[in-house]
Amino acid sequence: MLGTAAARLGIDVTFLDPSPSPPAAQVGPVICEPFDSTAGLEKLAGVSDLLTYEFENVPVEALEALAGRVAVFPPTAALRHAQDRWHEKQVFESLGIPVPQYCRIDSRQDLVKAAAILGFPIVLKTRTLGYDGKGQRVIKSSDDIQAAWQALGSAPLIAEQWVKFDYEVSVIGARRQGGQIVVYPLTENQHRDGILRVSLSPARNEALLDVASEYLTALLDKLDYVGVLALELFVRDDGLLANEFAPRVHNSGHWTIEGAATSQFENHLRAIFDLPLGDTSAIACAGMLNLIGRMPDTSRLPADFPFFLHDYGKSPRPGRKLGHITVLAENRAGRDQRLAKISNLLTN
Ligand code: AMP
Repeated sequence: MLGTAAARLGIDVTFLDPSPSPPAAQVGPVICEPFDSTAGLEKLAGVSDLLTYEFENVPVEALEALAGRVAVFPPTAALRHAQDRWHEKQVFESLGIPVPQYCRIDSRQDLVKAAAILGFPIVLKTRTLGYDGKGQRVIKSSDDIQAAWQALGSAPLIAEQWVKFDYEVSVIGARRQGGQIVVYPLTENQHRDGILRVSLSPARNEALLDVASEYLTALLDKLDYVGVLALELFVRDDGLLANEFAPRVHNSGHWTIEGAATSQFENHLRAIFDLPLGDTSAIACAGMLNLIGRMPDTSRLPADFPFFLHDYGKSPRPGRKLGHITVLAENRAGRDQRLAKISNLLTN
């Protein structure tokens, strides 16, 4: 999706991806090497004016090794913070952004103590390399501690209080060198089994955007950030608690391709190439459904049914994001109706 946006801006893109037939191959040449392969990164740097990344588990050291020779955006310091849930929470706290109560866990003893401090249930998470709910265990009572420790205890961990949130939102924005910032309308997100399933924009309470933008702006400025960043938040009694941030274009912002005046992908490119950032206004109420595990049979929809299908060309596998569908409508009710119709195709 970044590659498609780049083509429209006249930017040539070369990709680095270890998989033999990555989605990116549809839009540009791919260097098929592991993300930490010196040879692969050398090749990439050799043909690039600038490097960027769009998933978080890229080894920071590998990017830093190139940063002296070729510009790397977003800054690797931001990636470093985002890769470690403990550091991430420390950054939030240093900016006065509220977070769920948490404890750093370096031993089984720490976990027992954390349970006493946080109360049950608690969520035990690996500090690094977790995504889509992987590397997480919910501990409902002291009976679960041993199993959770056995499953995750070999890695550095963090324990969080279980947040009884009303719903989840994300706020996505872009910052350009020099400090220009633009922010998209607030997006409401629904997860299943720790994986994002549906995003709706605008979120049900648009008034929360002011506070969310304040938090996002503080974070972007603190990190001297360049590029798109997504901040994920829990909404509880109309207050916000930060869950995590992603230093990249974000799945909950895919609706911006058709639903906003400028997509998050274009704005990411504009930010890293130091071009004026585009208008982030919504052009309609948007809904996005991730296609997980299998693709729907869209031929069963009426011929005039309006939707935008993005097929990433990946082979199906349970739990794998294979694509997404976006629908637009004049109002929330229309959007929700259209999404429900598509969702039914996947379940029937
Ligand atoms: P994460 O990988 O931290 O984004 O977690 C994935 C999903 O798990 C979140 O989007 C929430 O739906 C849920 N989750 C994570 N942490 C908590 C928590 N402390 N309390 C309740 N739900 C959580």
